[in-house]
Amino acid sequence: MAVAETGSGSAADRAGALLTIDLGAIRENYRLLRGRLGSGVCAGVVKADAYGLGAARVAPVLYDEGCREFFVAHLEEGIALRSSLPTDAELFVLHGAPAGAELDCAEHGLTPVLNSLEQIDAWTALAATVGRSLPAVLQVDSGMARMGLPEDELSVLAEDPGRLEGVGLRAVMSHLACADDQEHPANREQLQRFRSALRRLPAAPASFANSSGIFLGPDYHFDMVRPGAALYGVAPVNGQLNPMRPVVRLQGKIVQVREVPAGTPVGYGHSFRTTAPGRIATVSVGYADGFLRSLGNRGIAHAGSVALPFAGRVSMDSITLDATALPRGALPMGTLVDLIGPEQPVDAVAERAGTIGYEILTSLGGRYCRRYIDGGVEA
Ligand SMILES: *Cc1c(COP(=O)(O)O)cnc(C)c1O
Repeated sequence: MAVAETGSGSAADRAGALLTIDLGAIRENYRLLRGRLGSGVCAGVVKADAYGLGAARVAPVLYDEGCREFFVAHLEEGIALRSSLPTDAELFVLHGAPAGAELDCAEHGLTPVLNSLEQIDAWTALAATVGRSLPAVLQVDSGMARMGLPEDELSVLAEDPGRLEGVGLRAVMSHLACADDQEHPANREQLQRFRSALRRLPAAPASFANSSGIFLGPDYHFDMVRPGAALYGVAPVNGQLNPMRPVVRLQGKIVQVREVPAGTPVGYGHSFRTTAPGRIATVSVGYADGFLRSLGNRGIAHAGSVALPFAGRVSMDSITLDATALPRGALPMGTLVDLIGPEQPVDAVAERAGTIGYEILTSLGGRYCRRYIDGGVEA
């Protein structure tokens, strides 16, 4: 059957919104972070699909920049990403292997982070079964009560290092709880505890800092740092100018504009009512796209540099904007307005939504038309 040529659009034509991911900016961010280190290694954290930006696209770019150590959170993420990276890249699984899945981890060439004596014992048992040493990272809890050996298990291991028989110890790591607040006393306390744990364990490279931790200074760098968010443009230090390049631009399409009189209720629950005659513009992005409902009556879109406040609640598939600041006819159908962009970086959106940049990025939806650029051109 013949299909008319005219009107058969591209993915960008069909989609409700355009998400542009700047791989070149990720490169520059990696270089900036590595430039802050002495001789230490800069790993790349690409868990949660590289914070929602696409690990299969992001990880090879980091590899290109010389990154050889990568972290994911879940075993399945590691399995999925393994084939996107050359074999000399080491892929670490932060949660380690789930009980019963140790062999899967080893067979896929992944290195687990061992977070408990139980995980250590399962890994050494596998090493004994396969008859060779298996690589692993050991995590100790230095004051977060989340992952890693707690104090009592650390003591057991320190007194019986033979328990690591069969483990090729690639690193000892820990994680900071409050590093985005440079004045927080927990940073120093965790540092002391981590140092003391290192003294009690077999010698191995040490890894401590996430993005924010890098900015706490050289004391926190050790042998390998593990940035994630800063690579993707999120500000690493609260209350300071963001040194990272923005990576993400989200542009929603205008799908309807209407002229309304004063007193017009807008959207679900009529939570917004116009106070003067004006214009309401509808954008085809909603909470089903990860554009959080908490932005209702609080978010802002931008047409160029003109701010268009969210009018009413965020719906599942759309957002209504008060576009009265623009003249009639200024927003023809299909016009793109910025939801995340030059006027409003991801951290600003997060603040309005009552969350952090991390959650805005990892929520980015599956309905967007995703474009990757590198050096300003399509990648
Ligand atoms: C997520 C994570 C990181 C990366 O943290 P960012 O704050 O995104 O830089 C590093 N280490 C561990 C253990 C993590 O869970």
